[in-house]
Amino acid sequence: MSIPALPMNSGFDIPQLGYGVFKVPPAATERAVTEALSVGYRHIDTAAIYGNEEGVGAAIGASGIPRDELFITTKLWNDRHEGDEPRAAIGESLEKLGLDRVDLYLVHWPTPAKDNYVHAWEALIGLRDAGLARTIGVSNFLVPHLERIVAETGVTPAVDQIELHPRYQQREVVAWAHEHGVLIEAWGPLGQGKYDLAGIPAIDEAASAHGKSPAQVVLRWHLQKGNIVFPKSVRVERLRENLDVFDFELSSREVAAIDDLDPGDGSGRVSAHPDEVN
Ligand code: NAD
Repeated sequence: MSIPALPMNSGFDIPQLGYGVFKVPPAATERAVTEALSVGYRHIDTAAIYGNEEGVGAAIGASGIPRDELFITTKLWNDRHEGDEPRAAIGESLEKLGLDRVDLYLVHWPTPAKDNYVHAWEALIGLRDAGLARTIGVSNFLVPHLERIVAETGVTPAVDQIELHPRYQQREVVAWAHEHGVLIEAWGPLGQGKYDLAGIPAIDEAASAHGKSPAQVVLRWHLQKGNIVFPKSVRVERLRENLDVFDFELSSREVAAIDDLDPGDGSGRVSAHPDEVN
């Protein structure tokens, strides 16, 4: 099994499938990431606010896997956008991770009411230039936020990590990203378990047709759409299941049936809206 890699606008590649550790308790993280690495994951998505960067660092340190085979992402939290705070924040993250650079560093949320995300983005450009992050991007940025950082800095993020799953497909952001060479990272790729994938005929029928689980069908749909995914689980059988999505292909009809699952009025969103997080 080999996980495909997608080229980013920074010139570096990103593995299209990884392991996300949101809500993995700090004390359980080293074990969970060790298991993920042992079953074949090489891309780990964490964030300062998850409180588990030390566990990620302990697992990667103990793994013996060469640094250049790993892809590690972390994120700048919302209360550290101003002044020199981003420099201090990435220093703390790197120390916890036991790394001298991350592969990808993201502005976690735009926090538009504070109107300081352009400063945060300028700071990330500096961190990249200083070699602390190989590639930089954003998360939860909507089209106006994306347009503004590009207009004010001339630097286009490599990725935008946004809530995206069958019932919430973010077509406006995705269209902008595709037009501007920005890769989409889909967070909550399985809808965070907040709706029943198996109860949706388009997903269930494809699962039966391919002898795969509903979760595998949804992950395969993401991959065929060009999204990067890092589903979360702390169960080793699910870690394996979520990785076992490279031996089948959904037909264009099956993909289109899942494309049709977004009601189109925003009601499929399962988590916070970027304008509400400040
Ligand atoms: P997810 O869609 O990956 O859902 C996780 C839940 O789905 C698990 O708790 C489990 O209950 C279920 N699940 C996992 N594998 C399954 C399987 N094979 N079959 C059935 N159920 C399964 O949601 P997530 O964890 O929120 O998102 C993935 C990652 O995205 C996170 O771990 C984190 O790294 C990132 N994320 C980023 C942001 C952001 O603001 N940037 C927000 C949320 C998550």
